Amino acid sequence: MPAALPRRPAPSRSLTGLLPFLRPYRGRIALAGFFLVLAAAAMLVFPIALRTMIDRGIAADPGTRLVALREHFLLLFAVAVALGVASAGRFFMVSWLGERVTADLRSAVYAHVLEQSPAFFESTQTGEVLSRLTTDTTLVQAVVGSSVSLGLRNLVMGVGALGMLVVTHPYVMTQVLLVVVLVILPAMVFGRRVRRLSRASQDRVADSSAIAAEVLNAIPVVQSHAAEEREAQRFRAATESAFQTGVRRTRARAVLVAFVIIANAALMLWGLYQGTQAVLRGQLTAGQLGQAALYVGIFAGAIAVLGEVYGDLLRAAGATERLMELLASRSPVLSPEQPRSVPTPPAGSSVRLDNVRFHYPSRPGMPALTDFSLAVAPGETVALVGPSGAGKTTVFQLLLRFYDPQQGAIEIDAAPVDSLRLQDLRARIGLVPQEPVIFSASALENIRYGRPDASEAEVHAAAQGAFADDFIRALPEGYDTFLGERGVRLSGGQRQRIAIARAMLKNPPLLLLDEATSALDAESERMVQAALASAMRDRTTLVIAHRLATIQQADRIVVLDHGRIVESGRHEELMAAGGVYARLAALQFMT
Ligand code: ADP
Repeated sequence: MPAALPRRPAPSRSLTGLLPFLRPYRGRIALAGFFLVLAAAAMLVFPIALRTMIDRGIAADPGTRLVALREHFLLLFAVAVALGVASAGRFFMVSWLGERVTADLRSAVYAHVLEQSPAFFESTQTGEVLSRLTTDTTLVQAVVGSSVSLGLRNLVMGVGALGMLVVTHPYVMTQVLLVVVLVILPAMVFGRRVRRLSRASQDRVADSSAIAAEVLNAIPVVQSHAAEEREAQRFRAATESAFQTGVRRTRARAVLVAFVIIANAALMLWGLYQGTQAVLRGQLTAGQLGQAALYVGIFAGAIAVLGEVYGDLLRAAGATERLMELLASRSPVLSPEQPRSVPTPPAGSSVRLDNVRFHYPSRPGMPALTDFSLAVAPGETVALVGPSGAGKTTVFQLLLRFYDPQQGAIEIDAAPVDSLRLQDLRARIGLVPQEPVIFSASALENIRYGRPDASEAEVHAAAQGAFADDFIRALPEGYDTFLGERGVRLSGGQRQRIAIARAMLKNPPLLLLDEATSALDAESERMVQAALASAMRDRTTLVIAHRLATIQQADRIVVLDHGRIVESGRHEELMAAGGVYARLAALQFMT
């Protein structure tokens, strides 16, 4: 696969991106090709059979006529059977290829996108990725699964018919070719317009899907602002615009269809006219004329189909190009060629950030962390506090290696984070995010997410540790209860405890906790605090803390402001110092 693709490669060039996906199925392609040639050959035999039938069957003397006619019909039927079988074989093989290649392509693109760092998702909307996965791959499917075979079949038939015509009627041929040029040129101009409009209408459809995806994900917000009507209107406008573009495309295509049909008829009639003249002059037999007329018909039909196929190919080339771009994007964060293997420490990981400077890729002018140095001993619990935007979450992002810093060193268990395999690094880290994600699966599966091979007993133990066991058992089907998409059936505190259980099951030497800012009722608060306390035990913990109760459990408090560490120490010390922490405490922790 090419590492980088030019922005706008020629169509033939960008379709070559599909080759690696076709290569595994060489045998099937050969078989499809065999059926294809067989079907085309059977089709090309028809006119010959017709000629012999007319000239020998009908024109023969009455005695032998009946027998000859019957034989010819039997022969014709045999050809038809061959045509039918070969066509069915070709159809099946080619459709199979289309489905197979599309499925492979879809999975490859999806797997690739999953590996991208967060920087990728900052510049690419998920809606766009989804559209590429569905719309673009469907276009590719249409091409691989039908257009290409249609095109090849018509190419073989067109060339065959042309060849037969050249051999049998060289004079008619020169005239036919002339007319063909007259038909093809305008059709190509029209075709280009149709193509441009198809792309535009595809984009409009994608626009409206993007709106729908965004709004459906935010239904509570939309309804709380009574914005249903407004959103419906916005969607309607987008759909309307897709309709308008669709109509413009269809209009252009309708004109194209009319033109092609009329031009084709003209082509055939012209050939027939020439032919009848020749028959009248005695240069041709009636059978030869019929045969020639059929060949011209096949040829003209082939030309028309090839024109359409060309349009499809160009469209699919655009789609392939977009998919290949996606496949070619390299995550800036990759596992090293020769990863180190570091044993898991029994009493928790050590963490060291040394003189780190980092800004997000989208904000080059604004450092999120500056001169940031922090060492955490195995088993230690460090609370990160500071005003919003101070850089607390950024510390987590760098430890997980979602981004690499521009300067400085980050080490876990004395190994630079970029010397470990990404999977190994992240296997050592348990993350409890501020907004826990609940998948649409059972409670059991949700907790097991971090360690899919964990036994049920282990899941139960983790849930007990996170004080989630009781409420899960109280659910209608206990651990098998479906938690619903994004966990809508759970309270905030319950979701947090599920997330804590998930992290505890993974049993990582380093735990990164991002405490929820949203207020919980007293009972939930107590449960979550208890869950946190049990999760922090026997491992190194970094916690972004918003509550005094959490902060007091920490061995050390590190205060961040504007991407720098401004203070550190214990609660009492920092209160006595009367700095940023004391002010924050007065504002926030006194609830
Ligand atoms: P905290 O967790 O302390 O509230 P963050 O670490 O999230 O702060 O953010 C630190 C700074 O980096 C803020 O100025 C924030 O706006 C910025 N920032 C955070 N995430 C991104 C991002 N993905 N892209 C660009 N800037 C970001």
